[in-house]
Amino acid sequence: NTFAEIDLGEALNLNIRRCKYVKPTPVQRHAIPISLGGRDLMACAQTGSGKTAAFCFPIISGIMRGQFGQRASRMPRTACPLALILSPTRELSCQIHEEAKKFAYQTGVRVVVAYGGAPINQQLRELERGVDILVATPGRLVDLLERARVSLQYIRYLALDEADRMLDMGFEPQIRKIVQQMDMPPPGVRQTMLFSATFPKEIQRLASDFLANYIFLAV
Ligand code: AMP
Repeated sequence: NTFAEIDLGEALNLNIRRCKYVKPTPVQRHAIPISLGGRDLMACAQTGSGKTAAFCFPIISGIMRGQFGQRASRMPRTACPLALILSPTRELSCQIHEEAKKFAYQTGVRVVVAYGGAPINQQLRELERGVDILVATPGRLVDLLERARVSLQYIRYLALDEADRMLDMGFEPQIRKIVQQMDMPPPGVRQTMLFSATFPKEIQRLASDFLANYIFLAV
């Protein structure tokens, strides 16, 4: 079992080789084909399992293949990403951003990160230069939405990373507010992936509210 056998596209496969990934990890081996097949996914995954690539590869591959056309907001200076990756902390968001940039190298897919506890101006400038994949912490994203500097109207891929930790940190209201803003396009066009280390009732409720006809993966 190798990445070359998974149909991710030429450019992404080249970047995977550049990262020296040869064999998919167990979560990657199962999650990537499910997502490439268009299904929603709830996956049990710990830190170190390779979950970052598990949600980044289908997103990058899908954006490269997709005919998403021109996208612009009615508001000037409003960024319109196609994919959103929500993560609980600045550290995790930065890690995901660094990895995603390597995976998206020379693909034309642009990745931007936005997190709280840091000045917003640099993040606003990066967003203005265009964004396909936005990696964000929930609080900072709500701020950007309220300032109308990000619109979620074109989101086709949503990944919730470490969902249990986001709930532990009290981000459920922000997450619900964020996902509500995505329900404008016709249902079924958005693909959602939820990654969590544990599955308490609160996570199961999020999954039944946000995921459609999903596959549960425990590896
Ligand atoms: P993650 O669980 O996404 O934080 O990944 C943990 C570490 O494993 C990171 O340093 C990744 O770069 C690395 N990694 C992820 N997938 C693979 C793979 N298929 N082969 C080798 N290393 C990997």
